[in-house]
Order: sequence, then structure tokens, then C-alpha cells
Amino acid sequence: MQIEIATLFPDMCEAVLSESIIGRARRAGYLSVTCHNIRDYTLDKHRRVDDKPFGGGMGMVMQAEPVYRCWEAVCAALPEKPHTIYLSPQGKTLTQQRARELSRLPALFLLCGHYEGVDQRVLDKIVDEEISIGDYVLTGGELPALVLTDAVARMCTGVLPNASAFEEESHFSGLLEYPQYTRPELWEGEGVPEVLLSGHHRNIDKWRQAESLRVTQEKRPDLYAAFLEQENSPE
Ligand code: SAM
Repeated sequence: MQIEIATLFPDMCEAVLSESIIGRARRAGYLSVTCHNIRDYTLDKHRRVDDKPFGGGMGMVMQAEPVYRCWEAVCAALPEKPHTIYLSPQGKTLTQQRARELSRLPALFLLCGHYEGVDQRVLDKIVDEEISIGDYVLTGGELPALVLTDAVARMCTGVLPNASAFEEESHFSGLLEYPQYTRPELWEGEGVPEVLLSGHHRNIDKWRQAESLRVTQEKRPDLYAAFLEQENSPE
């Protein structure tokens, strides 16, 4: 998969995306992520990319032309038009299911807004979908783009050791994950559930399923109710 991030702060994105699992996957060639500086596409001699909003009001608005020229240059270098996402507090909230669907696409173009946002005309022209990471407002789209990239990338082939690494995690099946324990066996006087030390895989699986239901019911009754409804629906 190819992810193209258009931002005014490419170093901020690179710093995160060069580290850990995503950084390793990029170096190993399982994933290609490129950060494009929208400022490189302005025709303004002072490299300006924003201006005051028409109609007055606070703050600045990112201009249409540099964003459009950046998008056109990225599209020209790809075999087909990337699915274009504007990270926006007005978008649909990101879910595990949407991240899974996006991970199956060949290429994504992620547009990060800043200041008061982006001139609506370029959004109307290039954006396929708006995605929010939650009902709150951040200063820019970079953190949301990083969140989206991480959530999508870890489900791309080769990034994690195998699909069960993400299929068994919270939200994939509609439930939260069971509690996890590691060495030492005794810490601060607390042991670990006996079944996990038994080596009996069927019993371990049963315990994990039961814990997964318990934890979901306790922490996210909304997810638990939706899960039960789906389980009991006639297909
Ligand atoms: N004026 C805009 C509004 O009220 O809808 C908010 C602009 S916000 C200060 C600046 C940029 O941050 C946005 O253009 C968007 O790219 C990004 N952003 C802020 N909060 C976000 C969120 N919850 N999810 C995704 N992107 C967000």
C-alpha cells in the first residue's frame, strides 16, 4: 500500500513514521509512506499558503491552489488516482472497520488541514471522504493523519507477523481484548490466572473468550449490546 500525506509539517509526520513497527515496515518495503510539503507547491514568491477568510473572522485559511497542485503532482506519479481523504473534525469518526477497508486500497492521499481549515473549493474538487478521529478539534490534521496511517498500515500484509496479530485485538470482532500478562509469574504478590500457565490451549481460548465478553460488558456496554444483537440476528 502507498500512503501519500500532504501537510505543511512533513518533518512532524516523518518523525513518527520513521520509528517502531511502521518505520521497520517502510524500510522493509511492505509499506510506502511519503510526506509532501504543500508549501513546495505554492506559486507565491514568499511561499505563502494561507490567507484571510472571505467574509471576515478569526484565523487563516489554507489556499486552494497549493493543495491542488500538490495533489495533481502526486496523482501524476501514481498508476491510478489515490482515494483522497481530508482529515477533518467534520468527517465520519474513524473505526477499525473503516481502517480495515482502507487497508485494502492500493493508495491513499491524506490531506492535513491547519489554521481554520482549507478553502472549500479544493475540497469539493479532490476529496472522496472526510475522516475525523473524534469529536474534538486539534490544531492540525497531522496527528489525525498519523493515527489513520498507523491504524491502516498495521493491517497491511507484512507489517505485523500475521493477521491474527490484529484480528484478535480489541474492536476487530466487535469485542474488546481479554487481559494480557507476562513474566514474572508473581509481581508485588499478585499472580496470573492459573489457566494461562496450564499449557491447555482449548481452556486458554475459552478463558480468553469469556474474559473478552466480560471486559466488553464492563468497559463498553454499547459495544457489548451491539455484539449481542449481531450474534442473535437471523443473518
Ligand atoms: N475550522 C474547522 C472547523 O471548525 O471544522 C477546524 C479547523 S482545525 C483547527 C485545523 C485542521 O485540523 C483541520 O483542517 C483538520 O485537518 C484538522 N483536525 C482538527 N481536528 C480534527 C479531528 N478531530 N479529526 C481530524 N482532523 C482534525
